[in-house]
Parts: sequence; structure tokens; C-alpha cells
Amino acid sequence: MNQVDYLRISLIDRCNFRCQYCMPEGAELDYILRQQLLTDNELLTLIQFVFIPVGFTRFRLTGGEPLLRPGVVELVKAIASFPQTQDLSMTTNGFLLAKKAHDLYNAGLRRINISLDSLDPETFDKIIGNRSRSQWQQVWEGIQIAHQVGFDPLKLNVVVIPGVNDHEVLDLAALTIDRQWHVRFIEFMPIGNAQLFGDQGWVVSADLRQSIRDRWGLTESQVRGNGPADVFQIPGAKGTLGFISQMSECFCDRCNRMRFSADGWLRPCLLNESNQIDLKTQLRAGVDPAQLREQVRSLLALKPEINFKQRESGATGAYSRTMSQIGG
Ligand code: SAM
Ligand code: SF4
Repeated sequence: MNQVDYLRISLIDRCNFRCQYCMPEGAELDYILRQQLLTDNELLTLIQFVFIPVGFTRFRLTGGEPLLRPGVVELVKAIASFPQTQDLSMTTNGFLLAKKAHDLYNAGLRRINISLDSLDPETFDKIIGNRSRSQWQQVWEGIQIAHQVGFDPLKLNVVVIPGVNDHEVLDLAALTIDRQWHVRFIEFMPIGNAQLFGDQGWVVSADLRQSIRDRWGLTESQVRGNGPADVFQIPGAKGTLGFISQMSECFCDRCNRMRFSADGWLRPCLLNESNQIDLKTQLRAGVDPAQLREQVRSLLALKPEINFKQRESGATGAYSRTMSQIGG
């Protein structure tokens, strides 16, 4: 059985972008009220006295947009300073990264994933739902600064959307030739947004891989990370290409993670809403961390079964919460 030691922690459900695949227009988003958000102290208490003791040692900070969380640098510093923390990373849209990259690195963050769905500012704006001025440049600058500061590996996440950015796949892949960047193509998941692409479906990783192979050839490769990406490399390139194919290929048997929402719910699987545990309410009610640890251990024991049951039901569209709310 796979060891589950990787926790994706959502720091906030709000975001300064509104990506069409994540927060589609018209979607009703009930943002978490401020008093329902876990405080820094509560989060650190749960990490130190519940998650670490049950075996979590690798953490990714995400959201919503994690850089919108007030005090994010101090949180990074505190989590990085736990002796049991073996790995700490972040997924961000990069918009505030130019300002924060140095401080995050100095606080102990070493690995970063930045979403970049297009190299064309106009397409980028369309995807992120921006109607005023282009924000692409600021994200691009954030990526450059993160690179200069020394984040390694530096990964760029691309959700491939049929008819919107799928024509850019080769240009995005080409970024890895001269730069030690790692571009990862993610299959769109119909979570809270199933109606979005209608009949067009999603772009299958195997097809993308083939188009890149036809252009340059591809060899198998590796890059440090905790995820389910299949990693390849254009021969001679400095960086790598990852393909995350959660729709076309089941990788539940390799799943090593749980998710923790910004309002304190521990979720055993991205697609599971019925087995989640409300740790915040219990912590606030004074429940002893030893009891919380027992509950988390029970959930860990259930996880393999949940993964496959969930997958078999195949009902990804049935989930009302979006990725930004769950903590993608
Ligand atoms: N705001 C940050 C960002 O965009 O990188 C972190 C949170 S976001 C929810 C985390 C990742 O989930 C991003 O790489 C985003 O592209 C991906 N994502 C969001 N909605 C998705 C969907 N419906 N299918 C596949 N990936 C999705
Ligand atoms: Fe925000 Fe990230 Fe969702 Fe885009 S993918 S709306 S940046 S949380």
C-alpha cells in the first residue's frame, strides 16, 4: 500500500484570478468567512500535533491563491522549521510572486509551481477572466524572479483547454529546451464546472505527448516532486515535461496525498466529500489532539478503499465545490 505522507494545505479559498476552468463565470462561490478560516496558530497546531505525528512530512501550500493569505511568509517559515518537514512547496498563480519570491525563499520555501496557461497575454486574460489590463507580464516577471532567486525545481502548470490554448502546447513545451523549467500539462477536470467545455471534453495527455514527440522526440525523465506526473524530456533539453492525466489514466493506486481546506476539513481524496473530517470545529471545541490523531489515522486506513470507490463511481461532475474551494 502507498504511504500517505503528503498533505496539500489550502491557505485561503479566495483568488485574484477567476480562471474559467476553476471558477467559471456564474458559479456560486460561497467564500469562507474570515472567522471560519483557520488561524495561523490553529493551522500550525494541527500540523505539529496531528498531521506530523500521524506521518505527514511533505506539505504543499495552495488555495485559492496562497499568496493572498496575510502572513504567508511567516507561515512558510514556521512550517519549514518543523524538524519533521521533509518537503515544503507551493502552487501559485504567480501574480504576487515578483514581490514575495525572495522572502518566501528566505523563509525556507524551495520548490514552487506556477500556473501559466498561455504565452499570449490576450489568451491568458481570457482564461483568467481578466477584463481590464493584461496580467500576463506580471506573472511572467514573477516566474523570472522565482528562477533568479533559486527555486528548484520550478514547475509551470498548464491546464490544456480545447480551442483555447491547445495550439500553444509546442511553444510551452519549448520553454524547457533552454531553461531548467519543468512544464506540466494537466488534463482539465470537470469539478464544479462540468458544463464548461461541453462536448469538447478535455485534451488527452497521450495526444499532447505524441505531438511533442513528433516534433522533437521524447525520452523518459525524472524531476523531484510528490505528484502523479509522468515525466519526459525533449532530448538535450535543460528542463522536463510532465503529463498529469487524471482523467484518461487512473493513478489512484499511486495516490500519496490528502487535502486540508482553509476552513479546516481534511479530505481523503479530491473527489470525496462524504468522508471528510472537520478538524477546526473540534479543535475550537477543545477536543484533545490525541483524539484528532485517531480520527485521521482511521481516515488514512480507509483511504485506499475511498480512492477506488470514488473512481469507479466516475461521478466527477457531481461535486459542487470548485478546485479553488477544495484546495487544488
Ligand atoms: N491559485 C493557484 C494556482 O492557480 O496555481 C493555486 C490553486 S489552483 C486551484 C491549483 C492548480 O489547480 C492550478 O495549477 C490549476 O491550474 C489547477 N486547476 C484548477 N482547476 C482545475 C480543473 N478544473 N482541472 C484541472 N486543474 C485545475
Ligand atoms: Fe485562482 Fe488558481 Fe483557481 Fe485560477 S486556478 S482561479 S489562479 S485558484
